[in-house]
Parts: sequence; C-alpha cells; structure tokens
Amino acid sequence: MLYGKEDREEAEYLEPIFGSECEDVDLPKYKLNKESMEPRIAYQLVQDEMLDEGNARLNLATFCQTYMEPEAVKLMSQTLEKNAIDKSEYPRTTEIENRCVNMIADLWHASSQEKFMGTSTIGSSEACMLGGMAMKFSWRKRAKKLGLDVQAKKPNLVISSGYQVCWEKFCVYWDVEMREVPMDKDHMSINLDTVMDYVDEYTIGIVGILGITYTGRYDNIKGLNDLVEAYNKKTDYKVYIHVDAASGGFYAPFIEPELVWDFQLNNVISINASGHKYGLVYPGVGWVLWRDQHYLPEELIFNVSYLGGEMPTMAINFSHSAAQLIGQYYNFVRYGFDGYQAIHQRTHDVAVYLAKAIEETGLFEIINDGSQLPLVCYKLKEDADREWTLYDLSDRLLMKGWQVPAYPLPKDLDQLVIQRLVVRADFGMNMAYDYVQDMQQAIDDLNKAHLVYHQKKEVKTYGFTH
Ligand SMILES: *Cc1c(COP(=O)(O)O)cnc(C)c1O
Repeated sequence: MLYGKEDREEAEYLEPIFGSECEDVDLPKYKLNKESMEPRIAYQLVQDEMLDEGNARLNLATFCQTYMEPEAVKLMSQTLEKNAIDKSEYPRTTEIENRCVNMIADLWHASSQEKFMGTSTIGSSEACMLGGMAMKFSWRKRAKKLGLDVQAKKPNLVISSGYQVCWEKFCVYWDVEMREVPMDKDHMSINLDTVMDYVDEYTIGIVGILGITYTGRYDNIKGLNDLVEAYNKKTDYKVYIHVDAASGGFYAPFIEPELVWDFQLNNVISINASGHKYGLVYPGVGWVLWRDQHYLPEELIFNVSYLGGEMPTMAINFSHSAAQLIGQYYNFVRYGFDGYQAIHQRTHDVAVYLAKAIEETGLFEIINDGSQLPLVCYKLKEDADREWTLYDLSDRLLMKGWQVPAYPLPKDLDQLVIQRLVVRADFGMNMAYDYVQDMQQAIDDLNKAHLVYHQKKEVKTYGFTH
C-alpha cells in the first residue's frame, strides 16, 4: 500500500523501528549528541552501523584469530576490566603471564643453563620493538667497550626485504639504518649467499623471519646461525640473531618439531611471536623472550610494585586489559601440546587441499602450497588464457563475502602480483570445499562476462594485511 505524506508520518509513529521512537536520532559523527539514549537502542544502532562490514570468518587476508571457544570468550569477558600492569592488585594474572612465558620458553627450547626472560606484549609489533631495542642497547655497550666510535655512523639492522612493516617502524623510531637483503625469484626468503655482506661493526643484529608475511616461507634460520657462528669467530664485533616468529613461533614447534630454528641455535638471542596468530587468541597478545637476561640490558627494565615489593617489567605499553593473557592461558590449558598439534595439522591439511584444487584449475602457478605456514599463494600463469586480473578475481570473490587479497611482492619482486589465502583454525575442510566452488564460479563468471576490468598493468596492494 502507498501512503501519502500524512499517512507516512502516522505509520512512523505507529511502527517505530526497534519498538521505540528513540532510534530517530542522527548518530554522532563529529561531536557528542546532547542527550543520552537507552542502552538497548544504542546497542542496536551501533551494531547496525557495522552490518555491511566484512565477515571476519570469511576474511582470508588475516593471520589474526577469528574464533575462540565460548568458554574462552566467557573467561575473557569476565576479565576485561583487569589491568594487566597492576601486578599487586592481580597477582594471579601476573602468575598466569609468567606461566605462559615458562611454557613458551620450553616450546622454544630455552636452555636450563641460561636464565631466560620474557614478557607478553600487545602483539608482535611491540615485541619486535622490544627485541630490537635490546639488540641496539647491547650492541652499543659491546661496541663502546671495543673502542668503536658509536656516534660516527648510524647503527644498522640486517633483514630480508620480506620484512613486516613493524621493522620499518622500529628503524624509524629508534634511528637505525635498515639494511634490506633483497629477495629475488631464486631467493624467496633471506639470501644466505649475500646476507653477511650487509653486516659490519655497526650492525645491531640480524632478523630472521619465520615465516615471511607475504608468502609464508621460512628464512633458513639454522643456515643463518652457521654463517653468524663463522663470522663471530673472526671478529670481536659479534652479531646475533633475533627471530621474528610472529606467525611461525606457535606453529612450527607443533607441525615441524624437527626444524631447528629457535634457542637451540647459539646465536639466536631473542624470539617474538603473536599469540593472536597461531597462538589462537583473539587480538591483541604477543610474546618476546630472550634466551638469557644477559641480552636484555638493565636500562630497558622498569620496576612496578608487586605484593609489597617490586617486579621487573619490560613493555612499551602500560595499561591494557588482562583478558588476552587469560585467553592465551586458557588455550594452553585447554589444548595442551596435542591439541595445538591437531588444530594446526588440520589447518595445514586444508591449506594443502586448497593449493591442489587451485592448481588443478590450470590457471595459476602455486607459490606457496601450505607446506610451511598454512597459507596458499599463487599467481596467474603467464600463458593463462583469460582477460581478467587477480584484482578482478578478488572483487568477484567478495560478492560471495570472501575477502582474498591480491598484492605485489616486495621490492625487486614487485612485478609479481599474487593472491594469498591464510588458513586459520576456524577454516575447516567444509568451508574449503565451499571456497573452491565459489572460486570456480567466480572464474566462470569472469570468463563469460563483459566486464570493466582493473587496469592490467597496475601494481597495487589490495586488501593485504599482516
Ligand atoms: C604479523 C606480523 C608482525 C606484526 O605482528 P602483530 O602481532 O600484528 O603486531 C610482525 N612480523 C611478522 C613476520 C608478522 O607476520
């Protein structure tokens, strides 16, 4: 039925949305509204604002976890109000953090001959910042002792060009020169033939990556350790390795326990990982550990009060909720080693299945087949008979709700545009079947359609995160 203007007003009055007239306000965008509103309506309005947003479970761009068990969520919502920095007030939470550090140290083979130290962080970015600062301070001490003029040149950090942006931030914030070891088609992780050419007496450390965010490949940390070992034998200016294991740190120990990449290697002095990646916690929690307190300069340790005494902390942030820490501990308690292994194994199998199915289309060349980190990346074959690009395919997949990024690889490889699927714990085989079907459909549609395509030669980043 059509209403005249008057009738419409009548209808609005009789049939208010959500059973209330209170909904009839403009949502504040630039300044606070004058009047308050009922919680029920505020909840509904804010929720509605996000209706057309992406569905996190279908977001194949991110490593960050998009599912936790209801029991974990309950625990975490019950602990949101606790401030993790208030060690005296919440000594149990402090104890829980320490237990997590102990378990992670064990997972990464910290030696009982040394005194490991570690802390939780908001994520790997804060963890890398702390790891980098410790390297810079330790280097300066060592270098001064050896009589080097530490002001004469900027200190430098050596890392492959597949680094995550947090290292660029680190170098800018702490005034360190970033020395990128370029990746190329034959070296899709750190190039061991050239890496040591970038090292000199101003090098604060070398970062190895487990694995590279763009492709999921692991740097050969053991090989790097051998090179460093040989280098250190010949010089007084020792250099050490920090492993950025943001995504591999909670994955490799379960899926490739024989892979040697951690504190078993002499020159690996610190490691970070994201609890919210394959540690299976919602964002944000991360971890950084040093193999021995010797590598963590005292200047970086600050004391906070703890049970009438003091306790050392090293963190950039001060206040934050303890909920994520508790979520991490819940997962450790709940899953144990076998549980993590089973979850990761399934994720791995899904990634391998996806890689096979995508290869079978005949259109794509697989760049990462899920054999290391559980992610699949691929590029269009040079001779693939089609007019569309990976950007068009991303668009098409988005129509079904899937968020699949397409982006160029870093420097020197940036003519190579790839698409990447990150498989997480909540992406099971059934979803994978659905995805493959939708992808096939998207390809068929693109092949048949007369569409306006993205610029063919354009190199751009499209939905790439973490
Ligand atoms: C994700 C990632 C980071 C940043 O981690 P956050 O936990 O998101 O801060 C750093 N390094 C690598 C290799 C990563 O994959």
